Amino acid sequence: MRKKIIAGNWKMNMTYEEGQKLTSEIVNMYKDESISDVEVVLNVPFPHISTVKKLIGSTANVFVGAQNCSDKEEGAYTGEVSAKILKSFNTDFVIIGHSERREYFNEENELLATKVKKALEHGLTPIFCCGESLDIRTAGTHIPNVKFQLTQSLFDLSPEEMSKVVIAYEPIWAIGTGKTATAEEAQEMHLALRRHIASKFGKDLANKTPILYGGSMKPGNAKELLSKEDVDGGLIGGASLKSRDFVDIIKSY
Ligand code: PGA
Repeated sequence: MRKKIIAGNWKMNMTYEEGQKLTSEIVNMYKDESISDVEVVLNVPFPHISTVKKLIGSTANVFVGAQNCSDKEEGAYTGEVSAKILKSFNTDFVIIGHSERREYFNEENELLATKVKKALEHGLTPIFCCGESLDIRTAGTHIPNVKFQLTQSLFDLSPEEMSKVVIAYEPIWAIGTGKTATAEEAQEMHLALRRHIASKFGKDLANKTPILYGGSMKPGNAKELLSKEDVDGGLIGGASLKSRDFVDIIKSY
């Protein structure tokens, strides 16, 4: 049995008050509606981390995450936030390699490999994002393309380290566009990635690695996507900003 994980990605949204309200609503619904078998992660902008963590309190299976961390340990890197600092604020997860970071901040596979290492060294769970552009999907080379992202960023990890990584497959053409991969397209990629992980780390480890789907997941399409054998959860952007939608996605699992 693999873990089921629904992770919200607030991106660069939510003021202090809005974030508090959203978190309280989600935590209350999670408790009141007796959801317990799905792990929930709120990946929030850095300044929200402490408050969100406090609002989550001791609610089992609800966690806080960041959306990025530095590849450096510490020191004179103005504007950066290290995995070490994140851990000291009791952060649980960190998204690494989101396609917006790859595109707008030129983050490449080798750099992301270092970030994943840093996160693991400091006891954070990395949610490693991968996915192909529309051009690559149209050319039909999406599977080798995404497998290569994993090879470059994750295959230098030890099995012990790899066993702590969560993967999120997010086709770039589906992010924030309202277009989703079909459940079959998602399943095809997730299975290919799982086999790829097995080829390096063995079947047991691959079978335990959670692979989330992301890209315009909403209450209306979540159930079908999440019903696929190799889809172990979701990374949700837009729909994670509304408590009811987000909790409905969790409940559709
Ligand atoms: P979306 O974003 O759900 O708004 O498409 C997903 C993501 O970027 O993680």
